Amino acid sequence: MECQITLGDVTVEVVRKRVKNINLTVHPPLGRVRISAPRRVSLDTIRAFAISRLDWIRKHQALMREQARETPRDAFRDRPREYEYVDREGHDVWGKRYLLAVSERDAPSSIRLNQDEMMLQVRPAAGRDRRRAVIEAWYREQIRAAVPPLLARWEPRLGVKLERFQVRRMKTRWGSCTPSARTIRLNTALGTKPPGLLEYIVVHELVHLLEPSHNARFVALMDRYMPDWRAHRDALNREPGRELVREPGREPIGDPVRREERGGD
Ligand SMILES: [Zn+2]
Repeated sequence: MECQITLGDVTVEVVRKRVKNINLTVHPPLGRVRISAPRRVSLDTIRAFAISRLDWIRKHQALMREQARETPRDAFRDRPREYEYVDREGHDVWGKRYLLAVSERDAPSSIRLNQDEMMLQVRPAAGRDRRRAVIEAWYREQIRAAVPPLLARWEPRLGVKLERFQVRRMKTRWGSCTPSARTIRLNTALGTKPPGLLEYIVVHELVHLLEPSHNARFVALMDRYMPDWRAHRDALNREPGRELVREPGREPIGDPVRREERGGD
């Protein structure tokens, strides 16, 4: 037998099983809540149990949803396979769309941006994989060049010092931090997004040097140093046709990133 209990914004699935105790679990990615309980326990008792754990449930849901948001749903991770790297194909650089213009020459490969064209020069034998490698290396360079000024601005503000940063293609995250090594990693696909979003991820990862987990202190630090961080986060994870999960009552505030993205169209 299955049923649901609704406690304000939290819905709990109840499953009756041959178990000894009431078990409460919260499941990723979106924080689905489930209670398994012995058949003899009344629904009122289960409800009272769920209410007593409501703070715990909300805390874990918030953490899971935060993790889900850091996942690059619309990143470049799936695009390299879809891309053909041929003329007139659209590629985004810092939030602006460029059309690929490929020229073949027996010379070292290069990329140049020219108004709305990304001019890719490759050797005549260069197939799709080679073209992709050239373009991805170029994106990495763009980020490598963009990060030092951001560190120069944010390290003193936050009172932290990074040992080093890496830029790489990542499947599941926009960035990550290893506080013990004072190292951060940034997703190459950030080079397709407006520059404010790279800055947001850099700040997010630097704040992990002060607070490794996504707890209330982490959120308070983000609120203090980058009050509009939620707008950046939502812009980063926005994908047409897919609904965003938001904390109840926490709508994004003033949103310069969206305007910037629209301006690039
Ligand atoms: Zn984080």
